[in-house]
Amino acid sequence: MAKKFKGPAIGIDLGTTYSCVAVWQDQNNRAEIIHNDQGNRTTPSFVAFTDDKRLIGDAAKNQAASNPVNTIFDAKRLIGRKYSDSVIQNDIRLWPFKVVPGNDDKPEIIVKYKGGEKHFCAEEISSMVLTKMREIAEKFLESPVKNAVVTVPAYFNDSQRKATKDAGAIAGLNVMRIINEPTAAALAYGLQKRANCVEERNIFIFDLGGGTFDVSLLTIKNNLFEVKATSGDTHLGGEDFDNRMVNHFVMEFNRKYMKDISGSPRVLRRLRTACERTKRTLSFDTNATIDIDSLFEGIDFHSSITRAKFEQLNVDLFKKCIETVESCLSDAQIEKSSVDDAVLVGGSSRIPKVQQLLKEFFNWKDICVSINPDEAVAYGAAVQAALLCEATEKSLNLVLRDVTPLSLGTLVRGDLLSVVIPRNTPIPVKKTKNYYTTKDDLSYVSVRVYEGERLKASENNLLGKFRFSIPPAPRGQIPIKVCFSIDFDGILNVSATEDTCGNRQEITITNEKGRLSTEEIERMIQEAENFKDEDMKFKKKVKAMNDLDDYLYTMRKVMKDDSVSSMLTSIERMKINSAMIKGMKLIDEKQHHEAFLRTF
Ligand code: AMP
Repeated sequence: MAKKFKGPAIGIDLGTTYSCVAVWQDQNNRAEIIHNDQGNRTTPSFVAFTDDKRLIGDAAKNQAASNPVNTIFDAKRLIGRKYSDSVIQNDIRLWPFKVVPGNDDKPEIIVKYKGGEKHFCAEEISSMVLTKMREIAEKFLESPVKNAVVTVPAYFNDSQRKATKDAGAIAGLNVMRIINEPTAAALAYGLQKRANCVEERNIFIFDLGGGTFDVSLLTIKNNLFEVKATSGDTHLGGEDFDNRMVNHFVMEFNRKYMKDISGSPRVLRRLRTACERTKRTLSFDTNATIDIDSLFEGIDFHSSITRAKFEQLNVDLFKKCIETVESCLSDAQIEKSSVDDAVLVGGSSRIPKVQQLLKEFFNWKDICVSINPDEAVAYGAAVQAALLCEATEKSLNLVLRDVTPLSLGTLVRGDLLSVVIPRNTPIPVKKTKNYYTTKDDLSYVSVRVYEGERLKASENNLLGKFRFSIPPAPRGQIPIKVCFSIDFDGILNVSATEDTCGNRQEITITNEKGRLSTEEIERMIQEAENFKDEDMKFKKKVKAMNDLDDYLYTMRKVMKDDSVSSMLTSIERMKINSAMIKGMKLIDEKQHHEAFLRTF
């Protein structure tokens, strides 16, 4: 039985490009998507650093073109990965900000902040976005929020999940549960269309976001939501489609003006922003223009692109999406004709070609588009959060069963992967397998834990290893029990026991993939607090300047009023005027400084 939590609990969809927060409202019997201070229901997962402040969300994204090297996005593509990972190496070429290898090959992002250089890991950047989402919820609920459910792509591996949990801890959140994005979307679908789900229904979730692609097959019957299979690609999404368009226009610029713009981060950032906008237009129109004033060396760039060209640039990526759909169905052992409905999630699922390919694949006339693709995941996360809380658990009355996305096992003789938990096994789960020594008189054995689907163990993802002491004996005599357990978050623990001669040892696996230590997390929590203080100080400073400005404005008006000024002596008037001049000078200096910063 899972632990129940007290107090308000929110659901956060921590997206690659946008994040969204929601809360279950018992009185309305539905989850509420919470809008941010700009009135938007999604918030860019962007963090920016300047000479005097840190910005998160819309404010960070809005200044990205003028401060590209210190505006960080895509932390989700970095989280839980190593610097040398080929995926990261490819991305680095496209990011305007700097990423370097840190301890244990962990990627570190370098920014200039308040005149100095600062290094951040992806968890810290994600924690800043999570903090922002928490603040948005706190403002709406008018109370502090500690508990949250955070979503991750179903295909996130063990270290990416753990790193996301660490990001929550740094943000001071109690991450009650990490759930898979497509599962969250299915919860949203199921709750909103519950009446239709009395008979068993097979629902396909197609979640194509900014940076990740996830699919899941679920069955819903009454109050039971059961994930049958899940599949995906942690590196396929809208940004890849943007990149294809960026490359297309970089080549066009080169052809038209004989100039290579690919080396300038600022130019690429501006072009990418324009391409993203153009891509969105192409979801509604068959042709879109792109206009960027003074893009490079004073040249204004004006061009256009057709929907057909955009589709041609991305055809291989779109096809890859459909291949993943096929593999998920085959894992679930369900014929495509048995799928009743598909839920489209993620902004990129709006692309007409993607919808068309999906419709053709399932042989359908229509696809469910009634669930908002940007909000479904946060909605479902809020439902899961409510299920974990004492106050709301009963009113919801539903049961969710998720699965593990990748097979998990140990290396055995001949570099083979001995699978202990096959992929798509319902979680939580605990499984034990017996192993034996392969040589006489060994004093220890090595347990290496991998995740993945390859037969050859070393071609999978090494999660961790440990050495295990055993009493010397002839080969094959000592049974070693290796136990794998996966909790509700999809996070793995491995232990080994050997109980001949009453000798029992138990070791929990340590993660190899550069997970943060408790001390590091503590330090980062402290730093996050410092940031909060600095942000508060900055806000206070701005408020004081604005108050002074308002005050001077009123004073100026009052002093112009003869009935008031005639009551003052000339010395008093002089004193007031000189104080006002001093105040205005202070504001002018400040405004000048701000303007300088903006245009820099
Ligand atoms: P998400 O990660 O779900 O927030 O999805 C964000 C991605 O969806 C970004 O890459 C957006 O450019 C993309 N997106 C949003 N709206 C549209 C649209 N109308 N057409 C195509 N892509 C879109």
